[in-house]
Amino acid sequence: MSSSDPLHALDNSPDAARIRSKRLVGRVASLVIDATGLPPLERSALEQRVRSETLALRGVKDVRIAVTASRPERRIIAIGSGKGGVGKSTLTANLAVALARMGKKVGVIDADIYGPSQPTLFGAHEKPHAEKQKLFPVAAHGVRLLSVGQLVPAGQALAWRGPMAASALNQLIEADWGDCELILVDLPPGTGDVQLSLLQKSRPDGALIVSTPQDLSLIDAARAIDLFGKTGVPVLGIVENMAGYSCPHCGEASDPFGRGGAETSAKQLGIDFLGRLPLSASLREASDQGVPPAAVAGPAADAFDQIARALLAALEKVAA
Ligand code: ADP
Repeated sequence: MSSSDPLHALDNSPDAARIRSKRLVGRVASLVIDATGLPPLERSALEQRVRSETLALRGVKDVRIAVTASRPERRIIAIGSGKGGVGKSTLTANLAVALARMGKKVGVIDADIYGPSQPTLFGAHEKPHAEKQKLFPVAAHGVRLLSVGQLVPAGQALAWRGPMAASALNQLIEADWGDCELILVDLPPGTGDVQLSLLQKSRPDGALIVSTPQDLSLIDAARAIDLFGKTGVPVLGIVENMAGYSCPHCGEASDPFGRGGAETSAKQLGIDFLGRLPLSASLREASDQGVPPAAVAGPAADAFDQIARALLAALEKVAA
């Protein structure tokens, strides 16, 4: 580009930082502009501004603009369990809130087609906004959320097969997640075809397994480890939920489901143990009311914080 190139004037444009390259061939200007992080409306406004500015330059008769946007580096973490009812969804919601409180930009995808409960856990029941086929996640407790439950009328059973569930999950992953760095995916419980399709389609960067301490749940957790292994998804670790109960009246500690089973199994299976959560009536009550306990300072929030830190450390390890 010679110093007499009329496109030089664009260096003084208010949008100069977005102009990645410019070239004039004959009287046709070809520009590449970077719209990273801009929502669709601002993106087309940027393109319009640069177009009119360029067309106003001497010697330019036509403009061709290519708009690019680099995806922010984003990690997807699948949260799975060998069976239902172990607290996988509760943990997903609260880990997301804990990570957001640590300053991470976090999204949650509720892919649990059998019982999408994230809108309830977050107390967020509004429908996500959609624009040109793209969904915009709903914001709640510092986290952005999309759920398969938002794609169908409330109460409708989602008797989806693997491919259908996978295409729904794909729609949620391709939503406008803006600057989210981490997306936690709440998988349906179990280790069947549906889970396999979901993993093959979403290719998460790592997986977290939730189990209760008793042997039966741990046998299922071992199956989940096997499923992630088969699909090439690194297992980041296992979390033990409902480990021990402290009676709110007399303070006596008991272990209704045993204790420490997940930690022992993790050792045997060669995977990291990321922490444990006690059985807690207040945790369940807060969850039912749509207030994730991780959002309210206290012992529950501290426990989720610790697990969130362990999860980040495990993620760094597999990314290294
Ligand atoms: P999953 O996703 O594995 O099916 P959920 O997260 O939906 O499990 O939890 C099942 C039920 O157990 C919910 O009512 C939830 O509030 C409750 N729950 C989960 N973890 C705990 C816990 N640590 N203490 C008490 N209740 C819990």
